[in-house]
Amino acid sequence: MQNVVILGSTGSIGVSTLDVLARHPERYRVFALVARQRIDRLLEQICTFRPTYVVVTEAEPAETLRNRIRDMRIACEVLTGADALAAVVSAPEVDIVMAAIVGAAGLMPTLAAAKAGKKILLANKEALVMSGALFLNAVKDGGAQLLPIDSEHNAIFQCWSANAIGQAPSVAGVEKIQLTASGGPFLRKPLSELNEVTPDQACSHPTWNMGRKISVDSATLMNKGLEVIEACHLFGASAEQVDVVIHPQSIVHSMVRYLDGSVLAQMGNPDMRTPIAHALAWPERIQSGVAPLDLTQMSALQFEVVDRERFPCLTLAYQALQAGGTAAAVLNAANEVAVDAFLNNRLRFTAISDVIAATLAKVSAPTIGSLAELLAIDAEARLIAATQIQLRAA
Ligand code: NAD
Ligand code: MG
Repeated sequence: MQNVVILGSTGSIGVSTLDVLARHPERYRVFALVARQRIDRLLEQICTFRPTYVVVTEAEPAETLRNRIRDMRIACEVLTGADALAAVVSAPEVDIVMAAIVGAAGLMPTLAAAKAGKKILLANKEALVMSGALFLNAVKDGGAQLLPIDSEHNAIFQCWSANAIGQAPSVAGVEKIQLTASGGPFLRKPLSELNEVTPDQACSHPTWNMGRKISVDSATLMNKGLEVIEACHLFGASAEQVDVVIHPQSIVHSMVRYLDGSVLAQMGNPDMRTPIAHALAWPERIQSGVAPLDLTQMSALQFEVVDRERFPCLTLAYQALQAGGTAAAVLNAANEVAVDAFLNNRLRFTAISDVIAATLAKVSAPTIGSLAELLAIDAEARLIAATQIQLRAA
């Protein structure tokens, strides 16, 4: 029996994870759930999975939840605050931590899991993108295991030669990692209309059902930019070794091209329960609840070159990768602030990339030193991005 902590249990990945866990009560037990809001959904999860602990990051919703649990006579301790969160993640009973908080907010608990040597299922790409080597070193030093949940990286992991897992591309005989991107809801929209798109339009993804922040990232292709950086860290690849190809059907989740001309692809219906089940049970396989893929029912699988004029965020991500140091953290912070402004109708869709470019130009990018330095850069980038948004608000 393995004890699981879910960071971000009320979100899209959190809910899919609980769905998979519920299919295997003999293998997994929910030790703790962590979320920021959606107390009703959290309460339902508590009733179903009976975790020992729940951590709600803000005090007021935590108190509301505590009272409701007391009234229902459920034995579950509700905690709040960063220290409690780190303690729960690092508890000796915990085997697996699903890192599915959205954004930089997930960095500290995921780092705590790394230091405590847990098996980390990483959905929270922003944590790795912003901290890079600092996070990977914590994984190594803590004796933790890192498994990718992002469907593309999970696909690449599955296509990596088994005897070269953890080895760099050159050792594995890999020539190219090819990340597929659906292209999001605006792949065919006339460029002149992008200026006017609304948050709801940006969040209606054609193939995946996800949280609002990653949905906007998919519409700008910044999601793919973050994933290029994520792939470089996870697989020890250089920017030149990672390509992006548009694949609107989201059936091929990514590909690895080997020196001998072989191209290995991982396919499946677009449902995150597949990578979640894969990483949970790896190296074994378990049921995920995902419908079987029937290729005879698909009209076509298309692959296209990315239009860089339509998707300037992808170029910005490659630039940050080349710049190195803290540039990826600046890129990530500026993107989080800009996407939040767009979702709250304070910034136009097409200005998201402008805000990120302007922030990257203003925050210098020395090499990453300590965690404190990284957090200071993240905070500085957020302030500058906020100013850039104000300049464009008029
Ligand atoms: P979501 O918005 O649906 O859920 C986010 C979860 O994080 C919620 O439970 C929320 O309460 C929690 N949360 C937010 N801020 C928090 C904070 N400060 N402290 C504690 N908890 C906090 O997001 P999602 O779509 O599930 O995505 C989660 C992560 O997984 C993101 O990093 C995303 O990039 C990644 N991811 C998601 C998908 C997908 O299909 N949804 C696919 C690949 C990767
Ligand atoms: Mg992905």
